[in-house]
Amino acid sequence: MHDDDDTIRLPRAAAPGGASPSPPPLPVSRRRLTGLWIGLGAAGIAGAGGGWWWLRREGATPPVAELPPARPPSEPPAPAEGPAEFSTAEILANRTAEPMALRWASNPLVWVLDFPSLELQGRAMNRMAALLEKARAPRDRVLGDEALAGAITADGRTAATWYSGHNYRASDLARFFEQAERDHVTLNPLERWVQEQVELARRVDRSRDAAILTIPAVGAHVDAGMRFAILRHELGHGQFFTLPFFAAHVMRIWERGFSETERADMRRYLGGEGYDEKQGELMANEAMAYLLYTPDLRFFDPARDLGWSNEQANRLRAMLRSGAPEEP
Ligand SMILES: [Zn+2]
Repeated sequence: MHDDDDTIRLPRAAAPGGASPSPPPLPVSRRRLTGLWIGLGAAGIAGAGGGWWWLRREGATPPVAELPPARPPSEPPAPAEGPAEFSTAEILANRTAEPMALRWASNPLVWVLDFPSLELQGRAMNRMAALLEKARAPRDRVLGDEALAGAITADGRTAATWYSGHNYRASDLARFFEQAERDHVTLNPLERWVQEQVELARRVDRSRDAAILTIPAVGAHVDAGMRFAILRHELGHGQFFTLPFFAAHVMRIWERGFSETERADMRRYLGGEGYDEKQGELMANEAMAYLLYTPDLRFFDPARDLGWSNEQANRLRAMLRSGAPEEP
């Protein structure tokens, strides 16, 4: 099943009302800001998975008189155009007052929803996270507002700080919207906006599944170093979702390169962060994104969070990196 994915969350210390003060910001190397992935041309590499969006829509068949003229199968509707493509540096520099969709120039199957604040990102994405990956939320039912607020409170977070960024397959988000309709859950305007982006992504490329990532603007609880770490972490998931050779490599390393103890350490850490430990792909995808693409010790430190030595972390990093898309 592909109902995983994840996210990285603010460390508790950085959340408002946290018991301990946030650690001081770490210097972020300018060099890393130019670290663009070389586009490997996701086209032709990523496998099929999307299917025909309009064939999978829910709903009753309209009466015959209302049906549009039959379209010959050889002439599908013209593909839709997606939003502009941004390099990694351009995404980081982007400042928007409204939620904004863009695509990553290095791999245009990766969509980034840039939110002006953690608050708006949370309002748009938390209900989806609850269905798709949260340990203490149901996998088969979309939560209403009250139940969602309860799940967030139970994690000791707020709607703004439950997540720092999100990442999902477009097909999994489409499943969320179908389930929400079945469960008669009223979605808010931001969730409706996300739905429009997901439907657009599935029209832009009907044969392949897109990755939908989200990042927050610099602001309360997010400094520039955090925005960089969140973006880089989520782009790692974007590669995993859209480059099957990379996903297969990560799964192989998770299953054969990590020892049983190392997998247990990682599961314990991710479970503590609220991820559903029962989803093997989610665990592997997170282990990859935290070890390779989370350059901010406030979010993740293998020594602090897993009790690992540098040598141990670096051995697994080297194995993961050996099958990863190239970086300059
Ligand atoms: Zn993640």
